[in-house]
Amino acid sequence: MAVPKRKTSPSRRNNRRSHDALRNALIVECTNCGELKLAHHICYSCGYYSKNEILSLSDEDSEEENEEK
Ligand SMILES: [Zn+2]
Repeated sequence: MAVPKRKTSPSRRNNRRSHDALRNALIVECTNCGELKLAHHICYSCGYYSKNEILSLSDEDSEEENEEK
């Protein structure tokens, strides 16, 4: 089993962990309805993604299966 030859110094350890922090989720306004949504994701309040309707959320009775492409 490979064993480290030297103890990692606090400076080296902290430098390694300087990239570990989590960032806030990138939230933008939907261009169709103005709701807040995750960037590069479908809007779950209107079902649009970049001017194209992906999900039809208005009429739930007729369940048409739209291909998500
Ligand atoms: Zn929307």
